Amino acid sequence: NRRIVLNSRPHGAPTSDNFRLENADVPQPGEGRVLLRTVYLSLDPYMRGRMSDSPSYAPPVEVDAVMVGGTVCRVLQSKHSDFAEGDWVLANTGWQDYAVSDGQGLVPLGQELKHPSRSLGVLGMPGFTAYMGLLDIGNPQPGETVVVAAATGAVGSIVGQIAKLKGCRVVGIAGGPKKCQTGVETFGFDECLDHHAADFADQLATACGDGIDVYFESVGGKVFDAVLPLLNVKARIPVCGLIAHYNDTALPEGPDRLPLLMQTFLVRRIKAQGFIIFDDYGPRYDEFLAEMTPWVEQGKIKFIEDVTDGLENAPEAFIGLLEGKNFGKLVVRVGED
Ligand code: NDP
Repeated sequence: NRRIVLNSRPHGAPTSDNFRLENADVPQPGEGRVLLRTVYLSLDPYMRGRMSDSPSYAPPVEVDAVMVGGTVCRVLQSKHSDFAEGDWVLANTGWQDYAVSDGQGLVPLGQELKHPSRSLGVLGMPGFTAYMGLLDIGNPQPGETVVVAAATGAVGSIVGQIAKLKGCRVVGIAGGPKKCQTGVETFGFDECLDHHAADFADQLATACGDGIDVYFESVGGKVFDAVLPLLNVKARIPVCGLIAHYNDTALPEGPDRLPLLMQTFLVRRIKAQGFIIFDDYGPRYDEFLAEMTPWVEQGKIKFIEDVTDGLENAPEAFIGLLEGKNFGKLVVRVGED
């Protein structure tokens, strides 16, 4: 049973030294328990937060403990009346080959599952985040301009496409020309701008001639700086993530821009609302699946998966996620389908 544990807490950007690969015995399930084999592991930006012990909405991973993570697993052995051998389940067993579970928190996915990894992406937590954040907080109306950051990623790509389905004009923001081309050609955004471009803020102002009605915030930093002056009266900002700041070790240098921010919010009557997907919307997961599943099957919502092979490669892939190296929803293939 290979497993990756937190070796040390990062200061700033994580490095491979913060992780350690261990070998342990395969655990044996007792009465009322199941043995799970990890097939896919999801890698997500929130894991950076769990590596630190600063206060957050969820407790940190302890040093020497297995890294947390959503997984799609198969039941290898069952001593639990609700599960049979061969069942697929959505679990939270973390960065390891095998785990024993008492069934709590497992989501059954049936005996036949054509596309297991989708349950970690478009039909899983990131898709759910996009759906609820955009529709419940962003409340996009036909004809409005929606700007989405990290626009070709797991959450952003779905946000932009749902906004298009709702009749909005969508401007994506992504890192590099290839991602931007995909934003337009694959995801159907009206425009997609490269935040690395020197004149990015000017490009955004040109692309948003009528201002911004909804800004789906996943990034912060200079992307938000470019968005702020363009926000319309009564704009909505679902505050989903701030990935540009996850490795920060101190507040930025320079003049205090908080008064400018608050003044903009006041004068333009802007609503910004943070959310933590399962804490705030957990009971609406079935509602999301009921609408998203046919959208995916009918090709109305497209998605890209970035698959890394082998549990041992998870640390490097995760470090890359925080640098924009992933292209689409990042998952690790840990075991055979
Ligand atoms: P993505 O698949 O979008 O991958 C992360 C992307 O963020 C990178 O590919 C990169 O895209 C972009 N990025 C990384 N660093 C920077 C930077 N310094 N400046 C600008 N962009 C950067 O990840 P997810 O879709 O899984 O997550 C997107 C966001 O949503 C994250 O902030 C995450 O924490 C948040 N989230 C929040 C949830 C909640 O409940 N609130 C639930 C799930 C996710 P590019 O190359 O295009 O810049």
